[in-house]
Formats: sequence, C-alpha cells, structure tokens
Amino acid sequence: MLYLDNSATTKVNKEVLEAMLPYLKEEFGNPSSKYYTLAENAKKAVETARQQVATLLRCESDEVIFTSGATESNNMILKGVTDYYTSAKSNHVITTTVEHSSVRETCRYLESKGFHVTYLDVDKYGRINIDNLEQRIKETPPILVSIIWGNNEIGSLNDMKSISEVCSKHGVFLHTDATQVVGKINVDLTQYHGINFLSCSGHKLQGPKGIGISFIRKHPDGYRTKLTPLLHGGGQEFDYRSGTLAVHNIVGIGKAAELAEKYQIEKAEYLTELENYLIDILYNKLDGNITINNDNKDKIPGILSIQLHGINNELFIKKVANVMAVSTGSACSSTKPSHVLSAIGLGIDRIRSTIRISLSADIQKEDLDIFKTL
Ligand code: PMP
Repeated sequence: MLYLDNSATTKVNKEVLEAMLPYLKEEFGNPSSKYYTLAENAKKAVETARQQVATLLRCESDEVIFTSGATESNNMILKGVTDYYTSAKSNHVITTTVEHSSVRETCRYLESKGFHVTYLDVDKYGRINIDNLEQRIKETPPILVSIIWGNNEIGSLNDMKSISEVCSKHGVFLHTDATQVVGKINVDLTQYHGINFLSCSGHKLQGPKGIGISFIRKHPDGYRTKLTPLLHGGGQEFDYRSGTLAVHNIVGIGKAAELAEKYQIEKAEYLTELENYLIDILYNKLDGNITINNDNKDKIPGILSIQLHGINNELFIKKVANVMAVSTGSACSSTKPSHVLSAIGLGIDRIRSTIRISLSADIQKEDLDIFKTL
C-alpha cells in the first residue's frame, strides 16, 4: 500500500524507534527522581533530546518545552498567554482563517470567554497580507498574534520573516503553528526574533505520536516569558507543563530532530522532484483536467492539493483505499468541507474534487506510476 498522507502522520523512522526502545524497557526511570542511576539516565536522555530539538530550531535548549503534541502546544500558548496578559487595555487576538482546528477552536473558546479575535483573510494560496496584519495591530494592539507558518492542507508558507518583523516592531507577542514545517524547511529561530512561541509535533517528522514541542523564547535578559500553565502539578518543564515526562517519546522526537537536521535539505529537493513527476502523471492521465490549489513556490515540499475535475474526492479516496492512502484534507476536520479551501475562495464543487497528496522521501518515483493505472 502506497502511503501518501504524510501530512496526517508519518511512519516512525527505524533509527528513532531503536533509540526509543531502551526507554520502554530497561531504562524506565523517572527523570524527576533523584540520584540513582535510572533517574539520572532518564534525565540525561531528556536533556540530550532537548538539545537535539534546540539544534534543529536554532534556539536555547531551555526554550524547548515538551508537550503531548501540537494540539496541546497550541492550546497551551493561546490560552496561557491570553490568560496571563489579559488586561483592561487589550482582549484582542489576531489569527487567520486558515489555522489548524487546534488553533481555530481554541480561538472560538477564547471568544466564548470574552476575547475579541480577528481572523485575517488570506489570498488564493492561503497567505496573509502583511500590511493588513500591521493595520490590525495598529488599530487594536493585540495580546497575541497566532499565524500558521505552513498550511497543512495546501502547503503554502506564510512570509514568516515579515510577520516576525512586524510583530517585533510593534512589540506584540507572536506565536506560530509550525507543525507542518519543522523538519521540512529550515526553521532557524535566530533569524526570526519576533517569534516568541512556536508549536510542532513529533509524529509529523517521523517521530512518535503523543509528543510535541512548545518553543517559548526567553527575554533577552534571560528571564522566562510568563504564561498561565495549561497543566498544574509537579512543576516539570520549567513550571510550564507539569506531568511525568514521556521519556521514550522525548528521546524519539530528539532523534527525529537530529535526523531532520541532517537530511531535510536533500529530502526537500527530492520531494520537489517527486511532486513534479506526479503532477505530470495526473495531468496526462486526466487530459489536463486538473487544477493545483497550491503555489509552486514558497511551499512545504511534498504537499500537493489538487482538484481532479469531474471526480468526487470522497469516492476517489474510497475507491483507491486498498492500494493507496490519500486524503481530502486535514485528518482533524475530515467530516466538514475544508475551511482552508473555502478561505482561498474555492466553491463547494471544487472543494469536493480536491485531494491532498502528501509525499514522503521514502518512496521512489516509480511508486507513483500507480496513478497511471487508476
Ligand atoms: N497543527 C497543524 C498545522 C497540524 O497539521 C496538526 C496535525 N494535523 C496539528 C497542529 C496537531 O498536531 P498533533 O497531532 O500533534 O496534536
């Protein structure tokens, strides 16, 4: 079975699995325990993983907070920052119309608690307009701006450099959901000083499920940025996120980050080759009756969103389900028509003919020839 739904999740890399196994077997210590070897080994493993992630993101290792996944990281930052910094002066949050449901639904929750949320419109590729963002910031300075870096359905990358500069210029907190970009493009946080918070997830970069990262930038003077914790308890993760650490998963995301750091550039080139190969096949097979929803530049390598004219996407993915895994869009909102495709201006017919193909660098070009036979 050809797996082409890598935006939904990825297969755990073999080296990642091997690195994790000892921490599910003999090395089962709790890193918060003291002095004895099992605890110290667990602690060392966690700190090595923290450093591996920090190396990938080019940040300080103590700016890396382990969570259970990007859903938790997004909730933690959006709820934690708005709760801590809410004031008579501002109850404003700025986000976009194309966020993942874990940001979108959290914003809905914040609205129910009295916050005012601005949802920025996007262009036909799902990108926000920077002048529009700046205008909104000037009109009503927000507590927090939260903007997805790379879209999970259409792969477009926002101009995070400019977004970061604008937020920095106006001194407002910026969070980005970078779940689909970490491990796929270069995320060098030394180049994005305006990003205060970032979320990502292990299972999108060939790591395990149930582990994610919140990057929380420290102040230039070394002080920690304050926010209200989502989980209160034993004070793990610098008091940001209590709970016994899932050492095996942490080791897994650390290893996955190390491998991403080594191979992401060559993988990105190969994924672009695979994309072009596949587009040619589909174009020929359907006599040109396809429309690509994503831009072909400034995008996440490997994600394609394609309208197959005259073909119903649900029927198509069901029909091919025994030979390949593709999707209509996000697995996290698969029951409703995509809000992302609708935000980029597609009508219901075009949405119903759209499939998302998300490739992995583990496949060969020839594997994609299967599309010729469908
Ligand atoms: N944000 C984006 C952009 C995603 O693609 C996903 C996963 N579909 C998430 C957040 C949630 O990640 P997790 O599964 O780790 O909760």
